[in-house]
Amino acid sequence: MSESLNPFEVAVKQLDEAAKLAKLDKGMRDILASPNRVLTVAVPARMDNGEIKVYTGFRSQHNSARGPYKGGIRYHPQVTVDEVKALSMWMTWKCAIANIPYGGGKGGIICNPKELSENELERITRRYAYSIADIIGPLTDIPAPDVYTGGKEMAWIMDTYSALKGNYLQPDVITGKPLSIGGSLGRNEATGRGVSITVREAAKKLGIKLKGAPVAIQGFGNAGQFAAVLLAEMGMKVIAVSDSKGSIHNRDGISVDSLRSHKLKNGAVSGFQGASSIADKEVLELDCTVLVPAALENQITKSNAGKVKAKIVAEAANGPTTPDADDILFGNDILVIPDILANGGGVTVSYFEWLQNLRREYWTEAEVNSRLDSNISSAFNDVYNNHKEFNVNMRKASTLLAINRVVEAMKIRGLWP
Ligand code: NAD
Repeated sequence: MSESLNPFEVAVKQLDEAAKLAKLDKGMRDILASPNRVLTVAVPARMDNGEIKVYTGFRSQHNSARGPYKGGIRYHPQVTVDEVKALSMWMTWKCAIANIPYGGGKGGIICNPKELSENELERITRRYAYSIADIIGPLTDIPAPDVYTGGKEMAWIMDTYSALKGNYLQPDVITGKPLSIGGSLGRNEATGRGVSITVREAAKKLGIKLKGAPVAIQGFGNAGQFAAVLLAEMGMKVIAVSDSKGSIHNRDGISVDSLRSHKLKNGAVSGFQGASSIADKEVLELDCTVLVPAALENQITKSNAGKVKAKIVAEAANGPTTPDADDILFGNDILVIPDILANGGGVTVSYFEWLQNLRREYWTEAEVNSRLDSNISSAFNDVYNNHKEFNVNMRKASTLLAINRVVEAMKIRGLWP
């Protein structure tokens, strides 16, 4: 599979590989190979200079056999319908692996939020929410943040939706909200926490001691920072960190807290006193026990996969490893914890947020974290058992587990009308 394939073709190819292992009949495979519904909407919005500009937005709803569609909304100039369709399929798998009662959805608007004022962003977001309001809802499709969207956009969408549907507060229509309007404690750290839990479980299976073991982290944003904090809490030694502006390394360990303060102050990890700078690509190739790609897609490719020395690669980012690289890592006995398992902590706590909203009750952070731990540990162990039983890499094992869970629900529910 080439790295330039479009994401939807990649997603269907992964489905086909897992469908073969699952001995899935063609009809079921065909249902899963395309989303149940893809809505394209025109999003006209008045710019600050008085002109009207029309943006294009999408919402893809892949499968709802196990529950309402769930998935983020991204704002990016390169959003395409095929990307959104692929991401919605991956969300179906991610929710099934985490064993939370959701199907998969994804949305997006083709726009560059960095070029928009706050008011323009709000008008575009509200108009998009208005345009998709009839197909989302607390029991049908529950969006969340994704690339370049966050609590602010979720609040506007919730407010628009609530105003349209009877004008009472409906916090359960969307997750990733600020705490003051029904967000959950523990949501910020959830993805990094999920990553650290999968690393802990993987280390147990492989008989690796994490105390003092070196870890390298590519990307120091939300996912990377909290993965770093929590892996360090488990006793691991963070020896290298990179971000878009540079990479740093210290064999004896980097203080994660000091590095976070440095990044907050300077906007970059470079220049941190307690480490020296190294070439970006070296971070992936360092001698370490765990490597956490937490930045971009397509970082471990067939050209550098052979140089990865880590025993465990925990994919905090979505799609950091290309399919060719997957085969090389598997051949070298490196355990890759795939994105749809490793970063499932985010959607799991989104589910907890929704549960809290539905009941209009709020949990302590300790309760959120403990439930997350038990969900992600079970998910890891379920995938690992498939990996051993079928002797396939963890990515195929994950997709296989997901497909089996989704197909079981589809079969039991039947086809009607
Ligand atoms: P973020 O924007 O907070 O952080 C991204 C980080 O990557 C930044 O530190 C940035 O400087 C760094 N980066 C960018 N280009 C880089 C490069 N070439 N080399 C090294 N670092 C680079 O984003 P995030 O929320 O942490 O998301 C990171 C990845 O994790 C994405 O793939 C995202 O889809 C995935 N993810 C995040 C969440 C979540 O809850 N945050 C959930 C699931 C998946």
